[in-house]
Amino acid sequence: MGQQFGRQSWAEPWKIKMVEPLRMLTREERVDALQEAGFNTFLLPSEAVYIDLLTDSGTSAMSDRQWAGMMLGDEAYAGSRNYYRLEEAVREHYGYTHIVPTHQGRGAEHLLSQVLIEPGQLVPGNMYFTTTRLHQELAGGSFVDVIIDEAHDPASLHPFKGNVDLGKLEDLIRREGAARVAYVSLAGTVNMAGGQPVSMENVRALRSLCDRYDVPLYLDATRMVENAFFIQEREPGFGDWSIARILKSFCSYTDGAWMSAKKDNLVNIGGWLAVNDPAVFDELRNLVVVYEGLHTYGGLAGRDMEAMAIGISEAVADDYVRARIGQVRYLGDLLTDWGIPIVLPIGGHAIFLDARRFYDHLPQDEFPAQTLAAELYLDSGVRAMERGIASAGRDPVTGDHHRPRLELTRLTIPRRVYTQAHMDVVAESVNRVHEVREATRGLRMTHEPKYLRFFQARFERL
Ligand SMILES: *Cc1c(COP(=O)(O)O)cnc(C)c1O
Repeated sequence: MGQQFGRQSWAEPWKIKMVEPLRMLTREERVDALQEAGFNTFLLPSEAVYIDLLTDSGTSAMSDRQWAGMMLGDEAYAGSRNYYRLEEAVREHYGYTHIVPTHQGRGAEHLLSQVLIEPGQLVPGNMYFTTTRLHQELAGGSFVDVIIDEAHDPASLHPFKGNVDLGKLEDLIRREGAARVAYVSLAGTVNMAGGQPVSMENVRALRSLCDRYDVPLYLDATRMVENAFFIQEREPGFGDWSIARILKSFCSYTDGAWMSAKKDNLVNIGGWLAVNDPAVFDELRNLVVVYEGLHTYGGLAGRDMEAMAIGISEAVADDYVRARIGQVRYLGDLLTDWGIPIVLPIGGHAIFLDARRFYDHLPQDEFPAQTLAAELYLDSGVRAMERGIASAGRDPVTGDHHRPRLELTRLTIPRRVYTQAHMDVVAESVNRVHEVREATRGLRMTHEPKYLRFFQARFERL
């Protein structure tokens, strides 16, 4: 008890006004549900899930202000008032000049890839993301990973594991010629590496490298607010900068960004693209009409854009970001204390269980991370997601599995949704599954879709 004296807790800068009951199935019901879902947590009905950590995408709780904003939707086909509010919010907080709304992040990735990539070109970036790489490939490009080596090592404590290896990038540009490089695809934070940040120093240096070779630099800003928190915390000189100032400064080194607003921007649906180059904007604004909707709504209702505009400004509040990442860390610290292998340092949006070390008796072709997600669901109804060999898909040329070094099971924390007690329940379940790890058998894939197979693949127990 003496140890408690002088302790200083943080708490969420909000309180709960509306609740949604949770339901917990019996173990027998969970066995049936998992069987039905082919051991793929993406195929479980949400009603069969107790605590849903599948993703932080579109699962945020909106604020009372955002819900009030939903009533201010201007549902005009063209020139909705809410579009201008969104444009203003993106300009104020991300700093780009021209904005195109899209229905979600991949809609933005599709348009940007079609406009910027010529068939045969390369797109270097700091580790692939599933939908990003697929749209780059569908546009005829090839993604090349130029992240620093530490990013592939789940135990490395490098503070900015999302950084681009400038040497790798410059070698690539020299070897292939700048004209073959469509643009640099930078993500902050890096989802597939465990939510790891990019430093301000790295983006500055990247900007001057890109300028030297006349290569554009575009940003996946999906979790850039969380990236800004890590810069504030870890990078010398930024300790007394606000999150908002860091965010805008970081973005100023890039030519534009695409956004899944379902993450950092605190809405259930939405995305946007923002660029500074008027010629690129012209093409994007033309293409959005083909695939998403008119350039002033891009597949969204006016009320969605209003909620997004409000979410953008709420998301950059320092106390909110601190509580958000604080909750992720709370879960990660519990697991680390109990000797569970996770990716370190703890990232921004999720805890990534290191399934390779967790199930060190399972070969990667038996889907250890998928197995771990299935076992967690069986144990407690907690839903996690695979981020390993199933997510990595196949090489489009050789047809063989991509075999990523990282074989991870992601516990993704929705924003403003669960309590600290929920985090305790999750950690206890992971611990129980860990205790019986040696007796756990792997999986075999029985159905494999052609695109983004992890969403709909089916498995059975070996
Ligand atoms: C979710 C996500 C996307 C794709 O966005 P959607 O809104 O799911 O289409 C792109 N990049 C990153 C880093 C993401 O996490």
